[in-house]
Amino acid sequence: MQEIRKYWRNYIDGGWVDAEDGDRIAIENPATGTQIAEVARAKKADIDRAVASARAAFNGRELYNMRPVNRGALMFEIARHMTEMADEIALAECLDNGKTLTGGKNEALAAARYFTYYGGLADKLEGRMIPLGADYVDYTIPSPFGVSAQIVPWNFPLQIAARSVACALATANTVVLKSPELSPLSTYFIAEACHRAGVPKGAVNILCGYGHDCGAALVAHPDIDHIVFTGSVATGRAILHAAAERIIPSIMELGGKSAAVLFGDADIEQAVNSTASGIFTHAGQVCSAQSRLIVPKALEDEVVERLVKKAKSLSIGPGIDGHDITPVISAAQADKIEGMCLAAQQAGGEAASGGRKAAGLTGHFIEPTIFTRLTPDMTIAREEVFGPVLSILTYDDPEEAISLANGTDYGLCAGVYTRDLATAHWAADRLIAGQVFVNEWFAGGIETPFGGMKRSGYGREKGQEALRGYVQTKNVGIRITGGGGGRPGG
Ligand code: NAD
Repeated sequence: MQEIRKYWRNYIDGGWVDAEDGDRIAIENPATGTQIAEVARAKKADIDRAVASARAAFNGRELYNMRPVNRGALMFEIARHMTEMADEIALAECLDNGKTLTGGKNEALAAARYFTYYGGLADKLEGRMIPLGADYVDYTIPSPFGVSAQIVPWNFPLQIAARSVACALATANTVVLKSPELSPLSTYFIAEACHRAGVPKGAVNILCGYGHDCGAALVAHPDIDHIVFTGSVATGRAILHAAAERIIPSIMELGGKSAAVLFGDADIEQAVNSTASGIFTHAGQVCSAQSRLIVPKALEDEVVERLVKKAKSLSIGPGIDGHDITPVISAAQADKIEGMCLAAQQAGGEAASGGRKAAGLTGHFIEPTIFTRLTPDMTIAREEVFGPVLSILTYDDPEEAISLANGTDYGLCAGVYTRDLATAHWAADRLIAGQVFVNEWFAGGIETPFGGMKRSGYGREKGQEALRGYVQTKNVGIRITGGGGGRPGG
């Protein structure tokens, strides 16, 4: 078994430090259930230090005063260091998050790419000139907010942290980021890359702690100016209460229960493969997972049969051995998923495949699961499971399919399987979701705006649009002395 460092410190004010009180959090490998490392456990005192450091860096204006093209070049350096460390990052992501080494490496490279993508945009965020007649010059400045407080979940900590830190740096905000207590290790490499690249001291601070004390202390801190939160709806709501106290603008990337509608003319093989990738990738612990498939009644048997065959072909085991179905993050998460599956069966649902923890493995593994015989009011068909569990619903006419797809509180992603462009557009136009995939779940990338409608949140990450969430418009109106269009001596 490959080894990783046994103890990881927080990165505050340009240096690696223990927690103020010396406390630590044990980090477990979800594929084995054994402890692999410890991290310094930040609490309020550590958050206070980090926010003070980010404030000093912001007020010092070093990032802001740089020519944006040079800020971009600094970000390219961060990307270069991330790329150089990609194998180490992949191992950390594999051991504390359960992913495959290939998956971990792809994430490291994607994280690096966030820094080149937004680094390349740092000198392209322009204000506007607004015509007020010859006696005035009026223009807008896209101004940074100040200290951006960022909180990241455990499923894709590296990419989610990279996308928010990169946007913040491109727009000259400074950052205090709280990494997830279950799988923080990959995020430390962002701090390391910033350090090696020469990012000004205090501009990026990365700490690990629990949500209830460390996270809560960060979002309630009187000296933060902006919040970026990715996580569950319940935590998002609690954070918004804290934000409301001080009128702090927030970007909320929350959960989902995303559905794809399969139309009668679809390429069923393509839809089955795409659905399997949409729900079984990272054992379904993906906010944008395709957790529901809505099929015409007449095709239900065929589609279910093919999906079950696909599910049974997938291997279950540790990511480090390259398996298809990797572990869920913790014993508690495995219990929660299995409990939801058992409740669904009691409510009348049928597990056409899976529905239980995988037998004979020591880590936290759930069988790839497909539920049929569901009604839309059942919890399994409405609420996020965050595991490898697909719910199948059926419809008679297309309007009903759209209303089923739109019939939850969430609105993160949606999908359409069809060969007909007109049908694809008809459905995409009616689906209430921030991102619609046609014929390939997860079609999109760093370049495409991502975020929710309804309870899935607001604001957009990824794409050029994300930068708008990290600046506020300042309008400058100048009266040209003396009138007369500013004519000298006028
Ligand atoms: P979570 O809400 O439990 O935790 C997310 C983060 O918030 C963690 O770092 C946690 O420590 C912190 N936190 C918890 N309580 C807090 C509090 N009171 N104040 C401040 N911070 C607090 O979510 P999770 O279980 O880590 O992640 C799974 C959830 O995240 C799912 O609902 C998933 O859909 C969502 N998610 C959304 C996206 C997206 O981009 N929309 C991406 C990934 C995950």
